[in-house]
Amino acid sequence: MDRDERARRAELLAQASIAAAACRKCTIGYERRNNVYGEGDPCARLMVVGEGPGETEDQLGRPFVGKAGQLLDRMLAAIGLPRGDVYICNTVKCRPTLQGPNGPRNRAPDADEMENCRPFLDEQIEIIAPQIILALGAPAAKSFLGRDFQITRMRGQWYIGPRDTPLMVTFHPAYILRQTGGEIGAVKRLVWADLKAVRAKLDEPPVPEPAIEITQASLF
Ligand code: SF4
Repeated sequence: MDRDERARRAELLAQASIAAAACRKCTIGYERRNNVYGEGDPCARLMVVGEGPGETEDQLGRPFVGKAGQLLDRMLAAIGLPRGDVYICNTVKCRPTLQGPNGPRNRAPDADEMENCRPFLDEQIEIIAPQIILALGAPAAKSFLGRDFQITRMRGQWYIGPRDTPLMVTFHPAYILRQTGGEIGAVKRLVWADLKAVRAKLDEPPVPEPAIEITQASLF
């Protein structure tokens, strides 16, 4: 991708992030510390979409920078993708929380919040035009594939996402970190299989453009 195109897309994303930062469509828009729009290569071939910002992300205004984010970085590195080569964002740009005895706790975004925030996500997908979308966790998968999506049964296969983009679903890194005992190995094996499928699709040769048949009628 040439430098001008990268700069053009970066500018579009910067403009869109200003609109997201001003948004207060949901209650969580008033509760957040920072709007977490997304970051990465504006020309990324892979776009990673999680559910929503957590506490560290809310503090720093950046997606996937806590423990789950560090694991995501290692997962991407394992398939030869440095974090800077992908684009990382979430279905909602504000941190969804529940009030607990020790202060706010993370929760999954609800359907209304995801619907309210969807134009920002669609705009990101439109600007970046990734070759593949990787949805992390059930809420992100449901935002693309409907509320009946069951991650344990339906992850690990290719779906068609926005802009007809191939879409893979795997477990969220935070879910992997919550596993204990023998479950850890089993979940990691499934995630590894999903990541390898993503790598294999990225490595597929580009489909050649169909040849245009020039006839005399189209010349004159
Ligand atoms: S979650 Fe999205 S739609 Fe809701 S207030 Fe935040 S930016 Fe706006």
